[in-house]
Amino acid sequence: MMEYWKRSISELHALLAEGTLSARALTEYFLERIGRLDTQYGAYITVCTEEALAAADRADGMLKAGKGTLLTGIPLAVKDNISTEGIRTTCASKMLADYVPPYDATVIRLLKEQGAVLLGKTNMDEFAMGGASQTSYFGGVKNPWDPTRVPGGSSGGSAAAVAAGLCVAALGSDTGGSIRQPSAFCGVTGIKPTYGAVSRYGLIAFASSLDQIGVLAKSAADCETVLAAIALPDENDGSMLPQALQLPGEARPLSGMTVGVPAEFMGEGTAQEVKDAVEDGLSAFTHMGARVKPVSLPGLRFAVSAYYLISSAEASSNLARYDGVKFGYRSRKGDTYDELIKNTRSEGFGTEVKRRILLGNYALCSGFYDAYYGRASRIRDQLKAEYAGLFTHCDLLITPTAPTAAYTIGAQEDDPVRMYLADVCTVTANLAGLPALNTICGYTAQGLPVGMSLVGRPGDDGLLLNCAKAFEAVFPRREALA
Ligand code: GLN
Repeated sequence: MMEYWKRSISELHALLAEGTLSARALTEYFLERIGRLDTQYGAYITVCTEEALAAADRADGMLKAGKGTLLTGIPLAVKDNISTEGIRTTCASKMLADYVPPYDATVIRLLKEQGAVLLGKTNMDEFAMGGASQTSYFGGVKNPWDPTRVPGGSSGGSAAAVAAGLCVAALGSDTGGSIRQPSAFCGVTGIKPTYGAVSRYGLIAFASSLDQIGVLAKSAADCETVLAAIALPDENDGSMLPQALQLPGEARPLSGMTVGVPAEFMGEGTAQEVKDAVEDGLSAFTHMGARVKPVSLPGLRFAVSAYYLISSAEASSNLARYDGVKFGYRSRKGDTYDELIKNTRSEGFGTEVKRRILLGNYALCSGFYDAYYGRASRIRDQLKAEYAGLFTHCDLLITPTAPTAAYTIGAQEDDPVRMYLADVCTVTANLAGLPALNTICGYTAQGLPVGMSLVGRPGDDGLLLNCAKAFEAVFPRREALA
């Protein structure tokens, strides 16, 4: 049997286009793998067997008619906070456990137009709040490299599905690192595009000024193929960039490029094994002709505080809509409207979501507004300015993606402060709206993948993908499964 799960999108496309493989057979192949393997990982919340097979048949029709594109018939997975018409979309919450959206998110519409096949909806932290994918109402996700470890989060189901070969590529969302950090923990590539490059219409909101849909896949090349299909203007999202991304990006050689390495990311809090792997990655960039130089991002020490204030403030407002009236879970207890809301929200949300709603409401209280939200916004502006300064003399920056490799399930998820601090490497790109990509740069002594992040100027997603493709061509990547 061909190991289709190890193949790139372009290899699969070649087989589909020449007719040696049908989209239906490829879809059945992945559905069989999900049925056989996913009980070990819990990567999917919903598997859409019937819809996937119907989509595969439509894709075969497109291919026969010569109307296929690179994504026609390619089986993909989608994080369960992206709305899919007729397919339940839960945000891994009891609140939306039975919610079936009446419309498709723009990214889903665009993928369907290309004839891509949606295999199912992937598991995540409840409402995308978390970094370990253990707060799901449907149970936690396990890392395919070692099922006693977390896959990272919040897009842990998408990352685990890619790593275990339970889809070809997957969509995730990233508010403070939720695509990059699970990509690092699961040994795959993941890109959070520039803010405004991909429509958020139909993405169930966590923190609207930070949320961005992106791609997780086996390689930067596959990420680029999927991103090119979804990074298109959409009048339903007023926060989009005026121009579509240039993908593939201009092919610039690495020689002559300047890579900045902000020293603050490589300090005490970062594990030695991670620093070593990132140093190896940087040496590869030097070998390919890039100039690597130390730089500084002093605002980093305030970044986690600013991120948690701003994201929780926005979340408290975005999640106010779950009142038990319009959609989602409704408590059976309570005689008045106020009691209905209180009981619905008490029963429907998990602990971490409630913690953020409380934090966000507190920060937005009149009287506190300037002391908390106002200061956090000023830190955000300062970070943007510091990045803009660095990009006057650097083409891109490289940092670790996370301070450690994947840790054991239960090791730190109950300690919010430890969990929040672990986001230090990723949140600044969201606060500044920058594109950021995780690629794998080494393995720990225990054989766990280590990720490094490439961060670029707004709109330089294509440049990051090109650099990552060049790096991935020389880096020997391992598979999670044999
Ligand atoms: N771990 C971060 C948080 O808990 C990021 C989450 C995300 O990007 N969705 O908020």
